[in-house]
Amino acid sequence: MTQTKHTWTKEEILAIYNKPMMELLYDAATIHREHHNPNQVQVSTLLSIKTGGCPEDCGYCPQAARYHTDIEGNELMSVQQVKAQALRAKSSGSSRVCMGAAWRNVKDGPEFDNVLEMVRTINKLDMEVCCTLGMITENQAQRLAEAGLYAYNHNLDTSEDYYKDVISTRAYQDRLDTIGNVRKTNITVCSGGIIGMGEAVEDRAGMLVALASLSPQPESVPINALVAVEGTPMEEIEPISIWEMIRMVATTRIVMPNTQVRLSAGRTEMSREGQAMCFFAGANSIFAGDKLLTTPNPDVNEDMKMFKLLGLQPMKPFVKKEQPETVEAQYSKYAAQGEKPKWSRPGHKIERNEEAREKAKV
Ligand code: SF4
Repeated sequence: MTQTKHTWTKEEILAIYNKPMMELLYDAATIHREHHNPNQVQVSTLLSIKTGGCPEDCGYCPQAARYHTDIEGNELMSVQQVKAQALRAKSSGSSRVCMGAAWRNVKDGPEFDNVLEMVRTINKLDMEVCCTLGMITENQAQRLAEAGLYAYNHNLDTSEDYYKDVISTRAYQDRLDTIGNVRKTNITVCSGGIIGMGEAVEDRAGMLVALASLSPQPESVPINALVAVEGTPMEEIEPISIWEMIRMVATTRIVMPNTQVRLSAGRTEMSREGQAMCFFAGANSIFAGDKLLTTPNPDVNEDMKMFKLLGLQPMKPFVKKEQPETVEAQYSKYAAQGEKPKWSRPGHKIERNEEAREKAKV
């Protein structure tokens, strides 16, 4: 059994990424079979519980308020709406619901209390619950854990070097600090990134070094391909080729043998053959539903046809770790602290972000 290694160097990872394709695929598929059932793929549903109006400046994101995109913002969904969507997801084969809110960071108060209630509600449906809500404190992570949260998503996005060309409103270290706060609880960590944002292959390797050196490594690593949305600073970037996606998935599988590697945004651009190669190379999760937060995603029926064609089965929930218990709000050990943590604002100028912001004003 391949041992997990936390001391990967960028050079070692680049050497894997750049192997001849057939060797890379063989190595990744071998490690995949040692640690996972290659015929099972987890189906997760991503639900945007609060869309748009985000104060951050992530260069790839149509939900940033400062860019002019055709995203329709909405207020936080109700617990009942979320429950109805979770039930629908469950009936179409999803074992996990990931709720995303376009927030910089979580603020204690009625909206967060509602999110905690959503977590309790979905956990009671015997589905894995994941949240992606921005930066969180240790106390907020403890409250989510108590509610029954299974995973918290907070992507590193790219390498620390290239991150400075993508986001100026918070630092890489803030991301790592949030992941550290999640790690102080029994919530699993979901953290990955986006390729095709104009970064060098060295940046992809740099991101994998950062993720693989976490101890423990993230239980889940989403690999997204940029979906360039009109109005965002990255609107003109051409889609990456499927071969880059396959190389990234295979390399991720080799450096993080135990993790769930998630094929995330960008699947609409991939053929079934391309996705099949990604599964062979070690991807074992997809997001279902016709939208991924705000960008297009294949229809769930199309995915089920692909599963049938490839003889894949949707994974059951709680295969990797047992279901957390839900503590009701009135029995909570962790009161809201109303903290105002000093998350950083580097505020350096990113030319393309500034240009997109100026264009949006016009
Ligand atoms: S990626 Fe998240 S934090 Fe960044 S602008 Fe979009 S919603 Fe906001």
